[in-house]
Amino acid sequence: MFLMRMISTRDESKEERSYTDVLLAGLAPDGGLYVPSEYPQFSLEELEKLRRLPYRDIAFAVKKKLVQGDIPDRDLHALIHAAYSETAFGDVASGNIVPLMKVEDGFYVQQLSLGPTAAFKDMALLVLAQEMQYELSRRGEHLTILGATSGDTGSAAEAAFKGLDRVQLFMLSPENGMSAFQKAQMGSFSGQNIFNVSVRGRFDDCQDLVKRLKGQKEFSKLGAVNSINWGRISSQVPYFVSGYLQAVRSVGDPVDFAVSTGNFGNVLSGYIAKRMGVPIRRLVVATNENDVLDRLFKTGVYRLSPARVTSSPSMDISKASNYERLVFDVFGGDSKKTAAYMQEFETNKKVDLADYGVAVSQLHNLGFESGSSTHADRLEAIRSVYAKAKIVIDPHTADGVSVGWRCKDVSEDVPMVCMGTALPVKFEDTIKEALGFVPERPARFVGLEDTLAANAFYSIDADAEQLGKYIREHATERG
Ligand SMILES: *Cc1c(COP(=O)(O)O)cnc(C)c1O
Repeated sequence: MFLMRMISTRDESKEERSYTDVLLAGLAPDGGLYVPSEYPQFSLEELEKLRRLPYRDIAFAVKKKLVQGDIPDRDLHALIHAAYSETAFGDVASGNIVPLMKVEDGFYVQQLSLGPTAAFKDMALLVLAQEMQYELSRRGEHLTILGATSGDTGSAAEAAFKGLDRVQLFMLSPENGMSAFQKAQMGSFSGQNIFNVSVRGRFDDCQDLVKRLKGQKEFSKLGAVNSINWGRISSQVPYFVSGYLQAVRSVGDPVDFAVSTGNFGNVLSGYIAKRMGVPIRRLVVATNENDVLDRLFKTGVYRLSPARVTSSPSMDISKASNYERLVFDVFGGDSKKTAAYMQEFETNKKVDLADYGVAVSQLHNLGFESGSSTHADRLEAIRSVYAKAKIVIDPHTADGVSVGWRCKDVSEDVPMVCMGTALPVKFEDTIKEALGFVPERPARFVGLEDTLAANAFYSIDADAEQLGKYIREHATERG
């Protein structure tokens, strides 16, 4: 049987790993990211056949190609059904859980946030958690995961791993900086295998603590669930396939996607769908005021810049980790060149593609375009979408819509699909500012803030010793 071969972007020896090895490893030991050595392909006939299937079956068909037999088909099918379950999605679970919402002719928002924590990160983390649980029990192992979050990732990971007996999840979050909604949402998952740790400090302090702890021998085996995990990236490809199939009149026609981005994870999955043969024409990279990626796609210069706090906080980043996977592709799979480029970035906080013989036009030839939006742009996008279609979008989706509108070529008949990355209920203050009212909450979130239990978070200083002690006392010795 042909097994999926995964290689590190920085490994010159091109040592091959399996899908599940990479799933459990996260980052490669050389600091690179895992990518497939080649992309499996979809023919138009195959895509046509997917068109009438429920989302779970589309997800299975796409993942099957990316997992390439490393998990037997029957098991993979069951894992995807367990991920997109009635418990997670209610009675829509067996149908289309990533529907297109029409804003106007040829302009859509794809709803990716119907999962348990109301953000698109559910789509990937639910599958990742099932696959990890499966693989750990196949190997007779257990895993303790340590992560840091400023919001959406933490709750999505906790919802996905809650109750899975092979994994214990310790999640650090800053004491201040998260909304009452986010805090209550995370707090609601505490207990069993989920440990919420509140750090007296900022998000950077949390990330720092994770790094410091993993640097210690005793904790070097702690796992991770951040967005560079290939399991997450690959589980986002299916909704681009579904969005494509929903948007076109005939399979084979082009579609443009606009994707609000932070760590370059979501839009990279769109690029992979394109590489797998889905006729996606343009991929519009939409940033907020933290416009590292917009400047990169306009000038070819990738420059670290301190993150500013905005009204689309899940996109407030200073660098975009997943971009390395695109660099590797643009360099034709040259890992030596990729490693040198990333090394220059890490040393100088800045690197220019031109110095590596790549013109910006090459990025455009791959389909990439970019733009950034301001708080005022987001408010305007929220208002326009509401005025045109009575749909309330969240501020992150608004970044994509704002830039998507700017990049839409009205002379052409190519649909533009903007990714809906969160529900507005998570960011009510900005919605109120834009529309003057707050939309009715989905029933499961009504009164959520009042449910925060006093002991849902364990508080520590930004101190590795306190964290180590807590994990030592609570992680069960197993496996
Ligand atoms: C994480 C997140 C993003 C950014 O996604 P990336 O994969 O990091 O590009 C955008 N919107 C929301 C609501 C998010 O939670």
